[in-house]
Amino acid sequence: MTSEAQIDSFQKANPEVKLLVPTSPEWKDRRATRGQAGQEIKPLGIAIPTNSQQVADIVRWAVKNKIDFTVRTGGNDFYGRNVAEGALIIDMRDIKSIEVADDKTTATIGGGVLAKDMLLKFDEHNLTAPLGNALEIGYVGWSTIGGYGPFTGALGMGFEGIVGAEIVNHEGEIVKATDEMLEGLRGMGGNLGIVTSLTIKVYPKREILIGMLIFDDSPETIKAVVAAEEKLTFPKDLNIHHFLIQTQQRMLSIMFSWGGSDIEEGKKYLETFKAALPPAKMSTVQQKSLLGHYESLQIPCLPYGGQRSIYIKELSPGIFDILMEAVKIMPPFVNIGWSMKTIIDQEKTVPNCFGAGSHILLSFTDMVPEEKFLAETRKWNDWLFEKIRSSGDPAVMEGSYPALTRPEDRTAEQLFGDKWPRAKELKAKFDPNNVFKHAFPTF
Ligand SMILES: Cc1cc2nc3c(=O)[nH]c(=O)nc-3n(C[C@H](O)[C@H](O)[C@H](O)COP(=O)(O)OP(=O)(O)OC[C@H]3O[C@@H](n4cnc5c(N)ncnc54)[C@H](O)[C@@H]3O)c2cc1C
Repeated sequence: MTSEAQIDSFQKANPEVKLLVPTSPEWKDRRATRGQAGQEIKPLGIAIPTNSQQVADIVRWAVKNKIDFTVRTGGNDFYGRNVAEGALIIDMRDIKSIEVADDKTTATIGGGVLAKDMLLKFDEHNLTAPLGNALEIGYVGWSTIGGYGPFTGALGMGFEGIVGAEIVNHEGEIVKATDEMLEGLRGMGGNLGIVTSLTIKVYPKREILIGMLIFDDSPETIKAVVAAEEKLTFPKDLNIHHFLIQTQQRMLSIMFSWGGSDIEEGKKYLETFKAALPPAKMSTVQQKSLLGHYESLQIPCLPYGGQRSIYIKELSPGIFDILMEAVKIMPPFVNIGWSMKTIIDQEKTVPNCFGAGSHILLSFTDMVPEEKFLAETRKWNDWLFEKIRSSGDPAVMEGSYPALTRPEDRTAEQLFGDKWPRAKELKAKFDPNNVFKHAFPTF
């Protein structure tokens, strides 16, 4: 079928679903994504379902006519996996209901809900839930692939909060996720189906103690920070993330966040933390409402390039030395980041297919404001990636964060790690013909 015939066939089969083509007035807005990744790709069109039944009808039509599709919500994927050449984009953003359960322990959100809308709605109900570090992120895309954020320590990662889902499966049926499907959904992204709603745990609203501690970027300071942190015991409610970042000048900045409900305990811990580290040049850590925090947040997220990651067991002397070498030749705009250890106790948490146990997320960007800078930052990023991956350092783990992994960097097997046999089994059971082939990790 030509693309014109495909469009015609779609419209006949789904007269109630809005379908955009490049000449539609809304095309430019709907086709826009956070960055430039995938913008060169020409999809068949953009379908905008407003309910689960329409999603189901679209999938049935696509399967019957052998037409590929991708799913998008926030449009934030660093590698443009929300679009494919000649494939239909299913834009979920009009499925955005948010309902809080009467007992206020869970909420059910539409498959196209963005973190911002969820936060605003929960705020009205005096509730909160784990969130990422930017409010433009789609909640399903964030939580089903992992889901880090300022509440990771206190409330768990995004996938750990998923308790129910409605899914459009590979046959275009609307199904309530079984326990097995939920196990897969917690780590397999959109591999088992299109999520039309997600039920997640919610918690009483709280303020957050959050901000940056800024240090100079000398190797001595960085070494002293790392050495001091090694001697500390990090409480569960704490989350810290380090960035070696180049703005007007290069610096080490530590994002400190306390997501626990006892904020006074957080303030006491902040003093202990500050006293143990070399003196900070500046601190912006303050008690804030969650909304206030996000409103003041300025994440340097540039349109070209992406973020790459490698999981490590610890910041070993060998990895530290590589990072220090990388800092010396760091081009403008990029950053290196590493988290504190994220503890995932696979024995205690919900059944899942998240590919890592406890780990440190090490990431490095090649993001730039203009395409002309990309070659230089990519060269640096490739050098750093190869240096760490080929170091043979036992602290380097096999996996990385799928959202921050160039498609060619890792296979699904490497990303799922110990969960690979189970993920493969669930994929074979719930999507035997790989209808959801554009989801990632890619099978
Ligand atoms: C500025 C920025 C900040 C970020 N911060 C964090 C962070 O703090 N923590 C963190 O863990 N990650 C973070 N990320 C990564 C982010 O969580 C992932 O890129 C996530 O997949 C984005 O989802 P999206 O819906 O916004 O993007 P999209 O590109 O629209 O979606 C990504 C993929 O998710 C899948 N998907 C989306 N909706 C559905 C659905 N309803 N059903 C089935 N599959 C679906 C599809 O496969 C789609 O291709 C950040 C990214 C950016 C750009």
